[in-house]
Amino acid sequence: RPLVVAIDGPSGSGKSSISKEVARRLRLAYLDTGAMYRAVAWDCLERGLDLADGALVEAAARALDLELSTSADAERVVVRGHDVTAAIREPRISSAVSAVATNLGVRDELIRRQRALLAAHGRRMVVEGRDITTVVARDAEVRLLLTASEEARMRRRGAQLGGTQTAEQLHEQVVARDAKDSTVASFTQAADGVFTVDSSDLDFDQTVDAVLGVVHA
Ligand code: C5P
Repeated sequence: RPLVVAIDGPSGSGKSSISKEVARRLRLAYLDTGAMYRAVAWDCLERGLDLADGALVEAAARALDLELSTSADAERVVVRGHDVTAAIREPRISSAVSAVATNLGVRDELIRRQRALLAAHGRRMVVEGRDITTVVARDAEVRLLLTASEEARMRRRGAQLGGTQTAEQLHEQVVARDAKDSTVASFTQAADGVFTVDSSDLDFDQTVDAVLGVVHA
């Protein structure tokens, strides 16, 4: 029986860790679509492409030799034989990724690949990103928007980075990236038929339970 759990949300909402745990509990495959946009950005930077050249960036995405694990327990991203699992999380990639993600040709190609992966897994998968509930898997059995207040998201991102960032740096990383990403998706209001889980005042386990509650409802 198909069970697609589509989860969208802004950076710092805890989306990735929550989505992985939900996939484990439900024994579903897991797809991190943000990692695909990051892989395109890594490839473009590595090859010294001008990110402002839309046609070149689109061509790079169409030709991208990308291997991506679809298991919540084994995160692995390989581009042209290079293991970039850690490299795609570097700040230089986070800064460059919006330029890649706003390229409509890139989006078209990655959405096509995401839908192919869904089909290849018999549509039993947790898929997380920015446009999963609205575009990639609009027909998902479960559609969820995971939100958290700006304050909570900056706090979590700060903890993730080991408390090394100033308040201004955290604000830049969380709020400024949201603003860039707002051309891709709106997180202020859930689309029709999409449940909202606000994790601002919930811990990890409570958030997982809230999401599972929506799945089993
Ligand atoms: O989720 P993560 O922060 O790794 O995503 C990296 C970037 O990829 C986002 O900031 C956004 O620009 C882009 N993205 C997107 N659509 C998705 C997933 C990610 O545009 N479905």
